[in-house]
Amino acid sequence: MRPEILYPLFAQVTTLPGVGGRTAAHLARMGIARVVDLLWHLPTGMVDRRHSPRVKDAGDGVIATLTVEVARHHPAPPRGRRPYRVKCFDDSGTIDIVFFHANRDYIQEMLPEGAVRVISGKVEHFHGQVQMSHPDYILRPEDRDRIPALEPVYPLTAGLSGKVLRKAITAALDTAPDLQEWLEPAHQARQGWPDWRRAITAAHAPDHPRHLLPESPARARLAYDELLANQLALALVRERLRKRKGRAFTGDGHLRRRVEDALPFALTGDQRAVLEEIAEDMARPEAMLRLVQGDVGSGKTLVALLAMLIAVEAGAQAALLAPTEILARQHAATLAPLAAAAGVRLALLTGRDKGKSRRAILDDLASGEIDILVGTHALIERDVAFRDLGLAVIDEQHRFGVHQRLKLTSKGRGVDVLVMTATPIPRTLSLTAYGDMDVSRIIEKPPGRKPVETRTIPAARLDDVVAAIGRALKSGARAYWVCPLVEESETSDMAAAEARYKALKAIYGDQVGLVHGKMKAAERDAVMADFAAGRIALLVATTVIEVGVDVPEATIMVIEHAERFGLAQLHQLRGRVGRGGDRSTCLLLYAGPLSETARARLRTMRETDDGFRIAEEDLRLRGPGEVLGTRQSGLPEFRIADLAHHEDLLATARKDAVLALSRDPKLESARGQALRVLLYLFERDAAIRYLQSG
Ligand code: ADP
Ligand code: MG
Repeated sequence: MRPEILYPLFAQVTTLPGVGGRTAAHLARMGIARVVDLLWHLPTGMVDRRHSPRVKDAGDGVIATLTVEVARHHPAPPRGRRPYRVKCFDDSGTIDIVFFHANRDYIQEMLPEGAVRVISGKVEHFHGQVQMSHPDYILRPEDRDRIPALEPVYPLTAGLSGKVLRKAITAALDTAPDLQEWLEPAHQARQGWPDWRRAITAAHAPDHPRHLLPESPARARLAYDELLANQLALALVRERLRKRKGRAFTGDGHLRRRVEDALPFALTGDQRAVLEEIAEDMARPEAMLRLVQGDVGSGKTLVALLAMLIAVEAGAQAALLAPTEILARQHAATLAPLAAAAGVRLALLTGRDKGKSRRAILDDLASGEIDILVGTHALIERDVAFRDLGLAVIDEQHRFGVHQRLKLTSKGRGVDVLVMTATPIPRTLSLTAYGDMDVSRIIEKPPGRKPVETRTIPAARLDDVVAAIGRALKSGARAYWVCPLVEESETSDMAAAEARYKALKAIYGDQVGLVHGKMKAAERDAVMADFAAGRIALLVATTVIEVGVDVPEATIMVIEHAERFGLAQLHQLRGRVGRGGDRSTCLLLYAGPLSETARARLRTMRETDDGFRIAEEDLRLRGPGEVLGTRQSGLPEFRIADLAHHEDLLATARKDAVLALSRDPKLESARGQALRVLLYLFERDAAIRYLQSG
C-alpha cells in the first residue's frame, strides 16, 4: 500500500485548485494525469523578465518588461484581419500593444487611456514600429512585483498556455510533502544536494540557465533518486531470485546429442561456448540468471532448445516464453521436429487455446507428459502448473517485465532463468533493465550467410521499385514490404499498410498478403503460414514482423520511409531476410529532406551488417538517453534521469542500493522506511511486494 504521505501526489490533477477538466484534458495529452506527473514535467528553458529597457532600446525578439503610458485605442475594424492596437509610449518612443481576436472590454479595462502600465512580453519590430503582441503581463505600476523576474518555460501542447501550466505546477509544488531523507547523509553532503522537496521546487524555479542542466544539484539529485529507485527495485528482485534455492541440473547429454545428430549443420563455436556456460550455471546449486545476447539470425533458438534439454535430461521440464503469438508458433514449429528427434514431448500454449484443448495441455503439463512448453504470456496464467519446471527461457526479453519473469519462475522450484535478446545493449545500459545478470554473447553468425545487399532509394523512384519487385516475384522470389511507422499510433501504421496493400494487390493480384498488429491472431497466423508456404509471395506488413519471424525463402525486404525507423529497428527488419542460402536484398526507401542523423543511419545500414557495430552506432547517433527512451529498446524509460549525463550516478546508485539492502534487507530502519517511500514515489510498488513476502 502506498504510504499516506504520498496520496496528494498520486491524486488526479483536477484535485489541484484551478485545474479543471479542460486543462486536465490538455495535460493528459502530454501524459500528465496525476499531480506527480506535473512535478516530473521539468522546464526546458527560462524567461528572464529583468530586462527593462526604454522603448527605443527594446530590441527585436527580446523578452522585456516595459513601463509605458497608454495613448489611444485603435479597435480592430469589424471583419478584416487587422488586430486591435493600443498605442503606448514612454519618453523615448512609441510602442503598439497588439491583440488578435481579443475581447474589447477586456482590453479597455486592462489598458485605460492615460494610464501607466507595466507590460512584459516579447518585443517585435514590425515595419519599423516597436510592438508587443499579447503581453504575458499587463499590470499597474504598484503591482509590478507580481511579474516574476524569472519564469520557467515548459514543453506545451496545443491549447495549453504556459501560464495555465505554470499555475498547475505551482499548485502541484504546494502539495509536495516533506519526505524523510532516503539519501545516505555523507553522500548527500558530498554532492551538495538539497533535500527532495527543495530539489523538486528548485528544478521548477531555475534562476540561471545552468540550473536547467542535468548536472545542476537539484536535477542531479532527482535523477539520482530515480536511478536509486530503479536499482533498488532491481536489487530486490534479484535478491528474491537469488534467495530461491537453486537446484543443480546436470544432464547426461543424451538428448542434446540426438538433436545435434538430427541437425543438418554443426553448432557454431559461439553457440557451443554459450551452451557450455549455461550448462555450468545449471549444474551449480544456485539458480541461474543469464542473459544471452545474439544478433538476429545468430541461432539463439537452437541454443534455447539445447539448454531446455539439459533440464529435461535432468528429469525436469522447461518453458520457452515468446513475446508474440507469431513467434511462439514459429518457435514451436521449428523446435517440434528436433524435439521429436530427441524423443521429447513439446507442446504449444497460447491465448488461443481455450476450453478442452487448453485443459488437455494443462493436464499433460501437470502430469509431466509434456517436457517442453512453448508459448506466449498465456504460460504465466495462474492455473498453468508444471509437474516440475526447471528452466524458464524468455525470448526477446525486452517485451516482458521483471514481474512476468518472476511469475514464470514461481511455477517451479529453483527454476533457472535464461533470457535471450537480439538487442545488443552496452553493459551500463543493460544494468538499468537487467541488473547484473550474467551475460553471454553470440557474435559469430552461422556459416554460409551471405550479407544482405542493402540499397537506399529515394521515394520518388517507387515505381521502379514496384517494377523490380514484379520481376523478382515472377522468378519465384518472396518479399516483405514494410510500411512506415507513423508516430506512435498503431492504427495509422495500419492505415498506411492497408493502402499499400491495396495498391500492390491491384498490380500483383492474389499473391499479395497483409499482416498488421490489429488483426486477429488467427488471421495473422494464417497469412504468415501462407507466406511461409509460398502461397503468398509478397507480404505487406507493419512492424509486427520485426521480431524473430523466420521464413528462410524470403530474400527481399522493402522498407518504406526507412528514414523514420531507428537503426536497431532497421537492423531487426533487415534480419528477416538473408536467412537462407540465397542472396538477399534490402531496399530502403526514403523521403527527403533527410536529417543529418537519418542520413547517417541509412549510411550505416548500407555499410554494415554487424549488429553490435550497429548498436554502437545507434548509441552514438542517438545518445543513450534516446536509446533508453524508445519503445523498441524495451529498456525502462526514466522521467528525469538521462544516462547521457547521469551514467556515473547510475553506478553509484547501484552500489548504494546493494549496500542499503545488505545492511537492512527488509528496509525496516529509518532509512529503509524512507527508501520504501522512494520506491512508491517512482512507482516501483511491485518491488515492495517482494520485500514484504520475502
Ligand atoms: P535468432 O533467434 O538468433 O534470430 P535463429 O535461432 O532463428 O536465430 O536462427 C536463424 C536460422 O539459422 C535458423 O533457420 C536456424 O535453423 C539457423 N541456424 C542456427 N544455428 C545454425 C548453425 N550453427 N549453422 C547453420 N544454421 C544455423
Ligand atoms: Mg529469435
